[in-house]
Amino acid sequence: MASLSLKHIYKVYPNGVKAVSDFCMEIADKEFIVFVGPSGCGKSTMLRMIAGLEDISAGELSIGDTVVNDVEPKDRDVAMVFQNYALYPHMSVYENIAFGLRVRKMSNAEIHERVLQASEILGIKDYLDRKPKEMSGGQRQRVSLGRAIVRDPKVMLLDEPLSNLDAKLRTQMRAEILKLHAKLNTTFIYVTHDQVEAMTMGTRIVVMKNGFVQQIDTPKNLYLYPGNKFVAGFIGTPQMSFFEGTMTKNGDKVDIAFKYSEAKISVPYEQLIKVRPKYLDGKTEVYIGIRSEDITLDPDAVAASPYKIKVVISHIEELGDESLIYGDINMQGDGYVESSTRVIIKAGFQHEYLAGQVYEAAINIDRMHFFDKETEETIVPRLPEVNDVDCEVKNGKMHFLGTSLPLPPALVSCPEGKGNMLLPSNALRFDGELKAKVVSCEQILGKYLVSLELGGRRLFAVTDEPKEVGAAKIGIDCKRITLSVGEAKFEPMEELVRFEGTFEKKKEKVDTEVRGKIKKKDAINFYLGIQGQHFPAPEFIAKKVFATLAPREVFSSPFYYDFTPYDVTIGKEGVPGTVESIADYGDEKFAKVRVGDKVVCIRTDSPVSGQVCLAPDFDKAGVVEAKRGIKLI
Ligand code: ADP
Repeated sequence: MASLSLKHIYKVYPNGVKAVSDFCMEIADKEFIVFVGPSGCGKSTMLRMIAGLEDISAGELSIGDTVVNDVEPKDRDVAMVFQNYALYPHMSVYENIAFGLRVRKMSNAEIHERVLQASEILGIKDYLDRKPKEMSGGQRQRVSLGRAIVRDPKVMLLDEPLSNLDAKLRTQMRAEILKLHAKLNTTFIYVTHDQVEAMTMGTRIVVMKNGFVQQIDTPKNLYLYPGNKFVAGFIGTPQMSFFEGTMTKNGDKVDIAFKYSEAKISVPYEQLIKVRPKYLDGKTEVYIGIRSEDITLDPDAVAASPYKIKVVISHIEELGDESLIYGDINMQGDGYVESSTRVIIKAGFQHEYLAGQVYEAAINIDRMHFFDKETEETIVPRLPEVNDVDCEVKNGKMHFLGTSLPLPPALVSCPEGKGNMLLPSNALRFDGELKAKVVSCEQILGKYLVSLELGGRRLFAVTDEPKEVGAAKIGIDCKRITLSVGEAKFEPMEELVRFEGTFEKKKEKVDTEVRGKIKKKDAINFYLGIQGQHFPAPEFIAKKVFATLAPREVFSSPFYYDFTPYDVTIGKEGVPGTVESIADYGDEKFAKVRVGDKVVCIRTDSPVSGQVCLAPDFDKAGVVEAKRGIKLI
């Protein structure tokens, strides 16, 4: 039994293949985690790094409270089950199961007890004398499972254990492995390329592509809230149908137009309130995703629905209990091949539909998905990033949603007029003067999504702490808003203070006491170099740099040292810079300081100007190896 902590894990093979990039995850004790993704996405590499069969190129892996990066596989207390069973052909089933325990010099009596117990659990007690070749694939995989469970490991690692079995046996073994997990009360990590296996087995699933984690969530959440188009298409059969289109906000409606087709629907804006306004301009193209069960040809449902589009049926696949209807929303389209207009619709047997005919189909707008055309990320995030609010600047105040706030000095140069404020969901504070109402508070992905009502409109706040439903007084963190009036646009303040630097060593003489006398001795000290200044490297940074980079890379790699505006002080010593201006947000002031060719914003209480020095608090530093973008801390 153990939890696992995977922090910024990378694997770069000697041939340069970056198999895993920045893998971060906390796995709780007794979870059943599935790594899933197409072949070559890095899932086996990740599993093998946990097992200790591959070195970790960068990052930190802990099992329980122990960092195991440098712990031998045999000392990690993990057991691995492979796709090809990896049984010894000349040994009996009994000896195959017992082998690992014999290597560990366990007593015969204990081995016997464990082998019997495992074979009981796995239903292979009657085959203990057989050789592997006398057993079926399913039985062999049970032996291989048996060999893992007798070790009573903290973590069970399974690498595509069912791929060599036929479909029926796979389904059966799937259930058996779940039963085993329930019985053993151990953390399981299971690798598969089969999304059905992932969906049916995992308490949580990690979807990977090209070495990057795409999304980590429960099967249900992955299905309902895919974070990007890849996950949306990978999870679920038949695959989600994707279309291209545009969205136009039109009062309290949003008109959705499907490209290469006449299809159009108009949905209440409330449905898409989490969508950033830039997508609702009628010009920005998006991907629209609809699952086969979220669109129907059923005449009663179609008659009752205001959300209808025309579909011409190309062909129908009968599946026994239901059928899959392939069609096209372009009347000249070919529903046989995947395209931007092909649609797949699930149907029962109550009605007959004919290939070649045109039908009306009703869309379940609660379950539509929308993705950015470039990034392919969802544009309806579960935790919305921003609220789009109409506002007017007049007499030194921002008027919005029936209320107003004085413009802070940093924004007073904003011209008067009607405009718009982008208010990030993390810029709403619960310590202000504006009277609002908390309508609901929902825990999502480790944060709280707080729905607020202000001036009859909905606003979203994302917080670390839950908020009580009812009256609330809120404020706005003005450094995070984007204010646009006419041509004038005020961007949010840059909150990342990033210094480019190096990691250096110096040979120095240090005073050392030798038999009561102080003597100068040679020592190697490590420093962080920024703009010609050298700062003693804190031990945790030095350790991390040496632990995660190859020795020859340590002193030749460029680094970023990252801080927040609150972790750097302006003083007499440190990184030299020039104050360009002061951004005054009322309750907080920030100095905009030019360092080299970059400008950073530093929190300051006292008036500062001209040449200054910046002293970062390196205990709070984030450290990134800049060439490959490997986040170390
Ligand atoms: P998956 O298990 O998802 O199919 P792998 O983890 O096996 O993917 O592989 C991820 C990537 O790393 C692939 O591009 C693969 O070719 C590459 N790879 C795997 N093992 C090695 C190796 N030993 N040396 C070099 N490249 C490798």
